[in-house]
Amino acid sequence: MKAAVYYGPEDVRVEELEVPKIQDNEVLVRVRICGVCATDVKTILVGHPMIKPPTVLGHEIAGEVIDVGKNVTEHRVGDRVVVAPYVPCGACYYCQHEQHTLCSRLFERTPTPGGFSQMVKVPSNIVEKGTLLIPADVSYEEAAFTEPLACCLHGMEECHIGVGHTVAIVGDGPMGLMHLQLANVAGARKVIMSGRLDERLNVAKELGADVIVNETKEDPVKKVTDETEGRGADVVIVAVGSAAAAEQGLKLVRRGGTVNFFGGFPSGTEFKLDPNLIHYSEVKLTGTFGFSHADFVKSLQLISKRKVDVKKLITHKFRLDQVLDAVKISAQLKGLKVLLTI
Ligand SMILES: [Zn+2]
Ligand SMILES: [Zn+2]
Repeated sequence: MKAAVYYGPEDVRVEELEVPKIQDNEVLVRVRICGVCATDVKTILVGHPMIKPPTVLGHEIAGEVIDVGKNVTEHRVGDRVVVAPYVPCGACYYCQHEQHTLCSRLFERTPTPGGFSQMVKVPSNIVEKGTLLIPADVSYEEAAFTEPLACCLHGMEECHIGVGHTVAIVGDGPMGLMHLQLANVAGARKVIMSGRLDERLNVAKELGADVIVNETKEDPVKKVTDETEGRGADVVIVAVGSAAAAEQGLKLVRRGGTVNFFGGFPSGTEFKLDPNLIHYSEVKLTGTFGFSHADFVKSLQLISKRKVDVKKLITHKFRLDQVLDAVKISAQLKGLKVLLTI
């Protein structure tokens, strides 16, 4: 089988690998679509402190079951499935405290070798809890959004977005545009989207943003202040991993509101924070990463019920041997979501 093996920054080679052998409780999936995520882009272009080459990246996997171990009862050959990149163990200290994304064994077992490969072996825990049947009217392309949307759902739940809230989102990329739709699903009164690219902000408008702000032309702080009778937003999602975005996010929130640092920051990032914003203004600052098993299930339901339009986010599709082109397009912020057809 073919796989795109990552050897280091800008060095990805399509190679012939042996088809993984499955055990009795495992499943073999023929990957059809794998989404390209910001982590893949960063890793392939500049490297990642936690990802050691050689390895196969790709964790937004949708495909078809082509072999099942003899003890597997949940899935059969021919099933169209999405495969989670991990499943929390359910037993460690963090899982016991329902902080599933902090599970100390989160990455112990993952689909191997990775989604940028024609086939993946799915370990038993992910077969049981992280492999979901794709409804017949949902395409592989749409289903591949289950993982990133689940991350957004986890972020939204931590901020307790609900009916009547004004939500400001910093960042007009695919994640920001999914947050926008989730805020509307949750009943937000007003969603304000700030970004840097008109074409993306126009998509935001089509997807239900009440107010869009191009921060290269307008001051988002003034805009959010004007739109909230001077208060600021109830919830701010910072879907960009930069100090500037973090600082901006903290200026957009109202007293007593919540800010979520949703995007991961490059290591070494520092920024200034006025502690009185937390004390006197009682701003709650949180961050979220990843998703729980329940988020993953709910995410596919939202896609399937078309509560979240993911199709509109797909702007590019590449073949496996074009993975370097795919990440470059993504890094240049041309379009929105990039998928690999495998
Ligand atoms: Zn990702
Ligand atoms: Zn755990």
